[in-house]
Amino acid sequence: MNAFSCSTVDHYTAGMLLSGVGDALGYRNQLWEYNQSGPAIHQELQELGGLKNISVELPDWPVSDDTVLHLATAEALATGKAGEELLHEVAFRYVEGMKDMEGRKPGPSSILGIAQLHPRTEGGYRVPYNPEATGCGAAMRSMCIGLRYPRPDQLSLLVEVAVETGRMTHPHPTGFLGAVSAALFTTYAVQRRPITTWGAGLLEEACPVAKTLVKSAGYAVTETERDWDYFTGKWKWYLDLRGLSLGTGPVTWPDMYGPAERDEAYKSFSLSGWAGRSGHDAPMIALDALLGAGSDWEELMSRAGFHGGDSDSTAVIACCCWGLLYGMDGVPQCNYKNLEYKSRLESVAQKLYALSH
Ligand SMILES: [Mg+2]
Repeated sequence: MNAFSCSTVDHYTAGMLLSGVGDALGYRNQLWEYNQSGPAIHQELQELGGLKNISVELPDWPVSDDTVLHLATAEALATGKAGEELLHEVAFRYVEGMKDMEGRKPGPSSILGIAQLHPRTEGGYRVPYNPEATGCGAAMRSMCIGLRYPRPDQLSLLVEVAVETGRMTHPHPTGFLGAVSAALFTTYAVQRRPITTWGAGLLEEACPVAKTLVKSAGYAVTETERDWDYFTGKWKWYLDLRGLSLGTGPVTWPDMYGPAERDEAYKSFSLSGWAGRSGHDAPMIALDALLGAGSDWEELMSRAGFHGGDSDSTAVIACCCWGLLYGMDGVPQCNYKNLEYKSRLESVAQKLYALSH
């Protein structure tokens, strides 16, 4: 343990492992991601015997693109490389990761962006600006950046790595600021910063650093500045809605907020009606779930993973933060014991802990 962190290696392991569990549960082998309403998923879950009876394992519960690319980011960070050398390493592992996408449904901007990467050739981690790249593909693979750079004085480094790896596929700020959010929230979890302050921290601390960085990096500055305000505007709106603009709370909740009401609310967070699909609202739904669920695993999955939107990507972020905060407490063994890529997730968590503490 260090002064900045109450997290142990077990918390790191829980964060990485549960991110994969959340992904596999939210995805349900393509059956649940986008395909069903929250109430229908809850009904089906009950017919399966409830979350506590689900054995998350192959062939019915594979991890999706989220975990494959999150592992790619994490394993690149675990090499200990820095600067441009790190960016080339990440790009290389994204290209490799795309070879492992059978049945995992990668998103369109990830497919396009990664096809344009030329790792280990000069500037080969940059892709042309893409005004469509607003999706959550950069967010869903970036939680581990917060595990590599967890100290408050590493904020600039964390933001830089999140922005530059995020832009490899999602050069639109709504896309890559999602990567900043996911990385920032895990770092806040490691620091045990109250969850009610995370959104204000994103807007007031991390986004200004990201904006300065974009200017100094000199890549697609005009387009990025032109498209900047949607992300910050929507986050301001959400924090006002929950009474969290000042970072203090108490959190304002609707009177009724079950699976049906959450489907409607999550849609209202979204860019075009697809809840959790974008870089701003995947971390937003994850935060909403963390605020509402506390240390209750089933409640967390209900809110973050069992809804009518991009349920694997909202769960992958929420569950990573939850594991860092609460460890494996109350998580049934069958949910994680035979998870696909379990040993890779555990092993990279240990390496990131050793590098950062
Ligand atoms: Mg997915």
